[in-house]
Amino acid sequence: MTTENKQTSATSEPTQSETAPSNPRDLVDLPESVGFSTQSVHAGERSQKAEGAIATPIYTASTFTFESTASLLRFVNGEEEREEYGRYGTPNERSVEAKLAALEGAEDSVVYSSGMAAIVGVLMSRLNQGDEIVFFDQCYHRSREFCSKHLSRFGVVTRQVPTGDFEAMRKAISPKTKMLVSESPTNPHLTAVDLEKFVELGKSHQVETLIDATLATPYNLRPIEFGVDLILHSATKYLGGHNDLLAGVICGSKQALDPIRSLRGILGSVNSAHTMYLLERGLKTFELRMQRHNENGQRIAEFLEAHPRVDRVYYPGIASHPSHKIAAAQMRGYGGLITFTIKDADWQETSRIVDAAKIPRIAPSLGGVESLIEQPLVMSYYHCTPEEREAFGIEDNMIRMACGIENPDDLVADLEQALNA
Ligand SMILES: *Cc1c(COP(=O)(O)O)cnc(C)c1O
Repeated sequence: MTTENKQTSATSEPTQSETAPSNPRDLVDLPESVGFSTQSVHAGERSQKAEGAIATPIYTASTFTFESTASLLRFVNGEEEREEYGRYGTPNERSVEAKLAALEGAEDSVVYSSGMAAIVGVLMSRLNQGDEIVFFDQCYHRSREFCSKHLSRFGVVTRQVPTGDFEAMRKAISPKTKMLVSESPTNPHLTAVDLEKFVELGKSHQVETLIDATLATPYNLRPIEFGVDLILHSATKYLGGHNDLLAGVICGSKQALDPIRSLRGILGSVNSAHTMYLLERGLKTFELRMQRHNENGQRIAEFLEAHPRVDRVYYPGIASHPSHKIAAAQMRGYGGLITFTIKDADWQETSRIVDAAKIPRIAPSLGGVESLIEQPLVMSYYHCTPEEREAFGIEDNMIRMACGIENPDDLVADLEQALNA
């Protein structure tokens, strides 16, 4: 059978003249509308890689050579697409960018050395002196800090309105407004934003919309389908998924991203080939990991809600969460991040519960295979005044757990013993 096949294919093989030589930059030709996991395994990768390698080789090159001046001229005249110098893009970045764009359902994506580098890169590319942006106030605290402390130095005005209050957002929009920014769901309160209303507000005022969808991931939420212009992720979290790299990405149309990509080449917030290799490898199992994160998140949120020592649970997958309806209408699952408060506990008693947990490690971050636990008061808001913490909605008895992909029974049993300790 094998020999027969070989012979058939040998005799029917087209001659060189009948077939176009394959372009080494050609991407894998996936059937249209393949499933998410098929995309995360294959999308964006070259159809044929160096030496026939199945995995994308790690190209550790800061610069890329030209055969001759004629070849350089073809490149500078835009006749040949290829690499030039590492700060403007590398093969490992391009491969990951194409995969992430496919997963997001976007035309293009630009990767950065961290999520914060992506936020800074986008805002620096878009905003001029005198421009304004409107933020929902539960956004990542470093993003808000960049706007209030640094963009302000360049004459950009940031207006913060309560998360989900579209009337306040509408009132905050002026002719100078260039961008509406939100996260969905937010951290640590897991508030989901109604993306239809968000996009409607942007479109009716001709203002670009940006969603930081790090906590949702493209597996659970596709902001592009609602018409959001720019989607941002800290790829450090679920996309990388193994708590072993820092990266960021912005997804959108080619036209929207071109100036952003150009500025990245000047800001220099680019990625090493090794980091991109890790991100590409992590993305191969993206759907499998997300399924388990969603499962563990839901299971543990329900366990916590039923536990007598727990006061409030913030998780969009449970009916008591104020965002449950919006989240259920927009999202496929709710991820692994859960915030909860301990009944009648002060901050020291809350710390004792954190310390008693054996499986989740005490650390910031989320979205990796290892579960992490932390007390926001100590981890991120220790140097704030009690008034500031109140304004941020950070309670002394609050615990944030980022469920990894461990066995759910083990996580529940461990939390049970920690809560009873
Ligand atoms: C972690 C995080 C960021 C920042 O990303 P880094 O990769 O740490 O720079 C931004 N937004 C959200 C929602 C995050 O969780």
